[in-house]
Amino acid sequence: MKKIFALALLASLFLASCSSNDNDNGPAANTLSFENTEITVNENAGTVTFPVRLTGNVEGGFTVNFETRDGTATQPGDYTRNTGTLTFNGNNGERQNIVVNINEDTFREDTEDFVVALSGISTNLIDIDPATATGLILDDIDLSGNLLSSGSSANDILTNSNFDRLLVQIGYVNGFRPTQQTIANFSTYLSERTFKQDIEINFLELDSPDEETLTLQEIADLESENRTAFNNGTNTMAIYIYFADSPSDGDDLDRGLVTLGAVYRNTSMVIFEETIRTLSSRSGIPLTDVETATLNHEFGHLFGLVDLGTVPVNDHEDILRDADGNPILDENGNEQGNNHCNVDGCLMQAQLTFQAPAALRAFMASTKEEIVSACSLSGIAMIRLLEDRAARGLSTVPDLDAECILDLQNNGGR
Ligand SMILES: [Zn+2]
Ligand SMILES: [Zn+2]
Repeated sequence: MKKIFALALLASLFLASCSSNDNDNGPAANTLSFENTEITVNENAGTVTFPVRLTGNVEGGFTVNFETRDGTATQPGDYTRNTGTLTFNGNNGERQNIVVNINEDTFREDTEDFVVALSGISTNLIDIDPATATGLILDDIDLSGNLLSSGSSANDILTNSNFDRLLVQIGYVNGFRPTQQTIANFSTYLSERTFKQDIEINFLELDSPDEETLTLQEIADLESENRTAFNNGTNTMAIYIYFADSPSDGDDLDRGLVTLGAVYRNTSMVIFEETIRTLSSRSGIPLTDVETATLNHEFGHLFGLVDLGTVPVNDHEDILRDADGNPILDENGNEQGNNHCNVDGCLMQAQLTFQAPAALRAFMASTKEEIVSACSLSGIAMIRLLEDRAARGLSTVPDLDAECILDLQNNGGR
């Protein structure tokens, strides 16, 4: 089937009281932690910032010391040694930054690393975990591995052939972080479908861009400003997921034509967290369920589903249809695949694909020429389906069906 670039799906999926929380990635109560255990920086960036975050309240506040330590990067040539003391007022969610100056030199080098460490905390009420973070200095960041089309790195995500580590960076606008249960569910999903043994999910708290709506181009521009995790040599495959505090451009909330999430590159996704929260609170469907369904669905496209980099073993790709359910043909009169699954009940199912070509065209028009989405997950029908599943006693977020799983297995996944 011919591939299309942008399409909108009225989600279908889900519902669920999500299960166990054993592998929770969030910090425990009363913890001081580096928000990122690894930050990549170009050597001409000037500085690199390591945010340290307090989870929990500590009455009276406290101080903690920090210092930089050489790795393969050494001071003063590669970076400027920095030591000092951070003072926290003791409020939950409080952040203090450690800024390290990076020095540019003219020699061709490989990636070099140094460590920032915390010690000497003035209270015994909290633990430090993790107490160190690594700064990776690249001679020139090669972004090419993270600028490919959606789904094209499916094999690298599913297997250990080229990268044995998966680093998922979640850049969220302050106040719009996904729930710990959602991240636990997502982590389980990654472990179940890929052969990666080493999976890290880290968090990057961001200021609001103060936009009423966001186009995909604006989201891609924000990624350029904020993302700090990139593919690293033959070790790390890095993914960036942005949790936005404003809706997608072109949304019509009153008519329910809203976008929950989108993929736009091989390692880039956006989740419209503010929209998800609005729909969740209006419908009564738990936030974690809507988040998990959206996150897992969109990541299914990074796995290459359906026919977006992972070739279907059997033909189960749905086709693009108009409001009357008739196929929308391309200029040669052929049916067009819509990169979703035609199996009822599958996480990637397209049974509720947008039946409103005008809205679809509006969405496609909102995507600028250089940046296009392979999936825009849309809201109201997803909520209706969740409610329907709840009414029928189905209480879990749908998994991939047998056909989609077979496709992943055929491309090196589980
Ligand atoms: Zn989709
Ligand atoms: Zn499927």
